[in-house]
Amino acid sequence: MYTCGPTVYDYIHIGNLRAFLFEDIVRRWLEYRGFQVTQVMNVTDVDDRTIKASKALGIPIKQHTECFIKAFFEDIEALNIEKADYYPKATEHIPEMVALVKKLLEKGYAYRGEDNSVYFAISKFKDYGKLARIQVGDLKAGARVKVDEYAKEEASDFVVWKAWDKDDGDVFWVTEIGKGRPGWHIECSAMSMKYLGETFDIHCGGVDNMFPHHENEIAQSEAATGKKFVNYWLHNEHLLVEGKKMAKRLHNYYTLKDLMAKGYDPTAIRYLMMSAHYRQQINFTFEGLEAARKTLERLTNFVHRLLETNGKPAGDKINQLNEGVQKGFEAAMDDDLNVSVALAHLFDFVRDVNNLLDNGEVSKEEGKGICDLMSKFDKVLGVIGQVKEKEKLPKEAEELIDRREDARKNKDWKTADQIRDQLKAMGIFIEDTAQGIRWRIEKD
Ligand code: AMP
Ligand code: ZN
Repeated sequence: MYTCGPTVYDYIHIGNLRAFLFEDIVRRWLEYRGFQVTQVMNVTDVDDRTIKASKALGIPIKQHTECFIKAFFEDIEALNIEKADYYPKATEHIPEMVALVKKLLEKGYAYRGEDNSVYFAISKFKDYGKLARIQVGDLKAGARVKVDEYAKEEASDFVVWKAWDKDDGDVFWVTEIGKGRPGWHIECSAMSMKYLGETFDIHCGGVDNMFPHHENEIAQSEAATGKKFVNYWLHNEHLLVEGKKMAKRLHNYYTLKDLMAKGYDPTAIRYLMMSAHYRQQINFTFEGLEAARKTLERLTNFVHRLLETNGKPAGDKINQLNEGVQKGFEAAMDDDLNVSVALAHLFDFVRDVNNLLDNGEVSKEEGKGICDLMSKFDKVLGVIGQVKEKEKLPKEAEELIDRREDARKNKDWKTADQIRDQLKAMGIFIEDTAQGIRWRIEKD
């Protein structure tokens, strides 16, 4: 599977991360189902945006992009996104891009413009527009576009090789097809085919990538090879802020680092963005993030209870629940990755098992079985992680708690309070609840 990666002209925002998270779920689900996945995610380290940004700061492009590549990997790790198998950089694949452009020239799909750049002639490729479902109509002869990004209405011959001009400064390669640099779209065609072959299974990206980027990738690749480029295209919807796409140019974005610096937990951010269906927009709000945090807390508390349970066996009741949740979860994920329905099954299950636990049911062994099932689901969700058994109380503290219980029974509130303070001094905090005493250890 090929996943369009970051353009490293700046820090990526959590909208970009939604795309990478979605792709992570695709991959994890395929692996859950026993597929062997090879994932390639490119790094766009030379294009219109990277050149413009490094030039504005007056630093060499490589130095500029390196810093954002590093930041990108930090974000990926913080969000528990599984590593792709390859992260090819555009600047390290210029010969492959040149070879592809040469082939297009030889086959007559590409031509040289008067500016010496090479353009792809979309009228020569009969399927042009199929992915984005656009009718190209009567092109004005010679209409062409040199920038990397443009709208559907501007569909026209697009650039595959940009002849050097002074705006590119020292960013150029001297090659058989002239002095210049690749167009953005040819980068992904060359890098995907290098690592995955001329035809591969899955190509992902955000919906904004469908046109012109993916449409152009198909045209270039299929024109060059005469073979089908990609079997399945998957596009994630956008993360929005107040109804608008989160985007750098709209200044309505958050980076993961911004949010983490404000104290937000990256796991809650992961949960928030992966819990909606990928083809549905998500409106980012801090209330949503807080709700995600609370939901996650329910899941980890559940696992804690399972690790601690020592009730009477619930037998068939547990078997049925286990089977039911697994079936429901899997069927939902198989249905075009319906994560929200899969999670609904999971939370119904959590509620039902919690009810059993409240009744003193679920043996130690059954608890362990459910924990294993939760770990299996978490291989896909990636939000629970290692939940360890809670610490045990020191013997001395247990005795104190017993003595406090006796004191409370005798309505000796003074002694009960004294013991509570004594425990507090040991870093043990207790709480009297309807279900009995709850305690926690807080170390400084
Ligand atoms: P870029 O670095 O701009 O090439 O984008 C990297 C990935 O993020 C692409 O797959 C984009 O389609 C995706 N993307 C950009 N903005 C958003 C957004 N607001 N929500 C979801 N995906 C996005
Ligand atoms: Zn791409």
